[in-house]
Amino acid sequence: MTADPYSWMEDALATIHRAGWYRSMQTLHGRSGAVMTLDGQPVINFASNDYLGLAGDDRLIQAAIAATQEYGTGSTGSRLVSGHRDLHQQLERAIATLKQTEDALVFSSGYLANLGTVSALVGKRDLILSDQYNHSSLKNGAILSGATVLTYPHCDVAQLRQRLEQHRDRYRRCLLLTDSVFSMDGDLCPLSELLALATSFDAMLLVDEAHATGVLGATGAGCVEHFGCTGSPLIQVGTLSKALGSLGGYVAGSATLIDYLRNRSVGWIYTTGLSPADTAAALTGVAIARQEPQRRTQLWQNVAALKQALTQQLADNPDVDLTLLPSESPILCLQAASPAIALHLGAALRQAGIFAPAIRPPTVPTSRLRLTLMATHDRTHIQQFIAALNQAMQVHTQTISTNLRPRTR
Ligand SMILES: *Cc1c(COP(=O)(O)O)cnc(C)c1O
Repeated sequence: MTADPYSWMEDALATIHRAGWYRSMQTLHGRSGAVMTLDGQPVINFASNDYLGLAGDDRLIQAAIAATQEYGTGSTGSRLVSGHRDLHQQLERAIATLKQTEDALVFSSGYLANLGTVSALVGKRDLILSDQYNHSSLKNGAILSGATVLTYPHCDVAQLRQRLEQHRDRYRRCLLLTDSVFSMDGDLCPLSELLALATSFDAMLLVDEAHATGVLGATGAGCVEHFGCTGSPLIQVGTLSKALGSLGGYVAGSATLIDYLRNRSVGWIYTTGLSPADTAAALTGVAIARQEPQRRTQLWQNVAALKQALTQQLADNPDVDLTLLPSESPILCLQAASPAIALHLGAALRQAGIFAPAIRPPTVPTSRLRLTLMATHDRTHIQQFIAALNQAMQVHTQTISTNLRPRTR
C-alpha cells in the first residue's frame, strides 16, 4: 500500500464545497477605480478598500515610477542590513506627523505589522483581551505571542471590564486589541471607554486603524482623531494598502515603542524592507490624504447618499429579508438570512453591472453583501446601484422574502 500524504487536501476541499464555503478569485481589469472591467463587462466597483481613489491616481503612479528608476525594484535586504533607504525614513516621519505620534515604523503589510507588533509586546506570562470581531491578523498575532487570549463580545465594554476584574491580576502585562473600524461590519470601537479601561487596569491598548486612516478624522488621521483621542497612550497599527493606495503596514506610537519594535519585532527584523515603489506611492498617498480633505468630504457625502437610499428601499420592501447593519464608516453591509441569498443577490447585482461581493461564514458570523464607497464614486454610480438592487429585489422576491420561506432567525 502506498499512502498519499497529500490526499487529505482533496477531502478538505470537498468539505469546503459541501458547506458552500468554497472561494475563488475574480479577475478585474484596468486601472483601479470606481469603474473597472470584469469578464469583459464594465462594473461599478463597490468592493474596493481604495476609499480615497488613490490607487489609480497619476501622482502615486508617477512617484512609484520615479522611485523605481532611482532606487531599483527591490530594497534588497532587511531594514537593519541593506534594505533601509531615505524614502523609508520620510514615510515613517510622514505617518508619525499624520498620527501626531513621536515615531512610526513601516512593515511589509498591515497583516505583518499586527503579527510583528502583538507578538513582540506580550508573551507567556501576559494577558490579551481581544474583541470577538477583530481582524484575522490581530487574532493570529495574539496566538503567535503565546499570551493567554480571552475574547470579549463585540464592543461590549461591560464584559471586557468583567474579564479584566477577574483575570488581570494574575498576569504580568496586559494588552487590549481592537479594530477601530470593524472591517466586515463598518461600525466603530468604543475608543474612549477602552482607553479608560486600559488606564485603570494598567493595560496597553492597540487599535487597528486599517479602515480608518485617511478616512476618519478632520486630517484623515483615523478613528483616534475622530474620537478626540490624539496624544493618548496608544499603539496604532494600520495599512498603507487601503485609503493610502499602496502596499505595506505601519505602527505609530511613542519613540520608545518604535525603538523597542526595531529591536524585538521579528516580523520587521527578518523580512525585506518595503520596495521603493510601494514606499514612494504610500508617501504620496499620505500627503494627498492630508492635503485634499475634499476627498473625505466627497466620500462621506457618498456614504450618506447610499445609506439614505438603502434605508428608504428597505422600508419600501418590508417583505424582503435584508437588514442594513449599523455603520459609521464607508463600509455598508446588507445582512441576508442565508449564504445562498447573499450569493444570489451578489450574482443578480453582478448581472446589472454592480460589483459588490457576498461575504459568508467563516469570515463573518452572518452572510452579507458588503459595500464600500469611494470618494471617486459619483451620484450616477449610487443611483445605478439602487436601481440594480431594486430590480434584484423585484425579480428575486421569491428567494429573498420572509413570507415565502420559514424564518431562520
Ligand atoms: C486589511 C486589514 C489588515 C491587513 O492589512 P494588509 O496591509 O492588507 O495586510 C489588518 N487589519 C485590518 C482590520 C484590515 O482590514
